[in-house]
Amino acid sequence: MSTIAENIAKVRARIRGAAQASGRDLAEIGLLAVSKTQPASAIRAAASCGLRDFGENYLQEAVEKQAELSDLALTWHFIGPIQSNKTRALAEHFAWVHSVDRLKIAERLSAQRPPGLPPLNICLQVNISGEDSKSGCNPEELPALAQAICKLPNLRLRGLMAIPAATPDTALQHAAFARLRVLRDSLQLPLDSLSMGMSDDLEAAVAEGASWIRIGSAIFGARNYSAPSTQGTLP
Ligand SMILES: *Cc1c(COP(=O)(O)O)cnc(C)c1O
Repeated sequence: MSTIAENIAKVRARIRGAAQASGRDLAEIGLLAVSKTQPASAIRAAASCGLRDFGENYLQEAVEKQAELSDLALTWHFIGPIQSNKTRALAEHFAWVHSVDRLKIAERLSAQRPPGLPPLNICLQVNISGEDSKSGCNPEELPALAQAICKLPNLRLRGLMAIPAATPDTALQHAAFARLRVLRDSLQLPLDSLSMGMSDDLEAAVAEGASWIRIGSAIFGARNYSAPSTQGTLP
């Protein structure tokens, strides 16, 4: 077995264990493999283990890998910060965007979604950890933003996403993820998605209702570099 296959088996066992411990149905928990900075060959290896959903943070890098992997039926999720001049390419190349945090971006994605493609699935990113993180809307802005996005014709609002401040304290992990679930439920909209949990805290996320856990290093190993230095200057 390749390392990636072994890693995927371990991640699946962790998800299974967490689902069992919290009485959740495994079918409700999607494994999103976060493949940023990983070569197309690593994605191909993960796909051969049955993974279909891949998350990318950098547009240019993602589009290049999508072209290399166009023989595979993969579903691509964008999970990185969004600049408004990148929305057209996002609307063209992805099935999901998890990191929408303002109306202007949502309006552009809806307007630029190519005719003939299904609506773009959207998660609203919420800043649930306060001042540490710059991405995500404030919880107070969420109801108005969600209502407005629901009216956009070419988007389908699916739920909320968060990247809580990393902590080894499992009680704090649970509290942060529970907060996102409560926020989602408080919107009283038909939202089926909670995008939360990464390699180090997936158990807490599954217990608190995650529908997508976003797993990078536990599948692909440590990333060699943190971000392409050209990010933000590409056409
Ligand atoms: C990189 C990244 C992940 C994966 O993180 P790991 O700790 O490597 O599992 C998940 N979500 C987002 C938004 C990321 O940028």
